[in-house]
Amino acid sequence: KLARFPCVRTLEGFDFDAQPSIDPGQIRDLATGRWIGHGQALLLLGPPGVGKTHLAVALGREAVDRGYTVLFTSGAALMAGLTKAHADGRLEEKLLQISKPKLLIIDELGYLPLEPAAAHLFFQLVSRRYERASMLITSNRPVGEWGQVFGDAVAATAILDRLLHHSQVVTIRGDSYRLRDKRRSGLLQ
Ligand code: ADP
Ligand code: MG
Repeated sequence: KLARFPCVRTLEGFDFDAQPSIDPGQIRDLATGRWIGHGQALLLLGPPGVGKTHLAVALGREAVDRGYTVLFTSGAALMAGLTKAHADGRLEEKLLQISKPKLLIIDELGYLPLEPAAAHLFFQLVSRRYERASMLITSNRPVGEWGQVFGDAVAATAILDRLLHHSQVVTIRGDSYRLRDKRRSGLLQ
């Protein structure tokens, strides 16, 4: 029993009218889980507050409902776990454990820049899952900046090469949903 969603968020609770840069049809298609059956990757990219985590949790929930094993983790917790396992000589065990769920959701990758050693650990995880099991990754950094995110352009290229091979990329634009009430009430410009 995995998953570990940080909050309750549903597709029904997502206001598509407030987010015109997203195609509702694409999200509804993703909710069927077919992409997970095919071991594809999904990247949700965009600035803070536009609904990346909301959609990641909601799609994760849909996947669970359809019988897929799902593990939800933050980018920071994942990288800390991999780094610690590596230091403890348990990397293989850890990679095996994280490679098992049919869908691995990594929320907010690249919020903090990674050490080059961490980039190499992440590459090993991506290689392990490549074409066998799906990953859903959210990030506030466009893939063009992942060389900086990973602190290693070669590792970033190798990671993106595998991630993007069979993938869908949803780029969300617009203003933070968190701040919209404040904007409306005139607290923000
Ligand atoms: P991000 O992960 O992109 O920073 P979140 O998914 O955490 O953003 O969204 C911030 C808050 O706004 C959350 O409480 C989320 O449920 C809500 N939210 C964002 N976009 C929408 C939307 N289109 N409809 C309903 N709630 C939304
Ligand atoms: Mg988020």
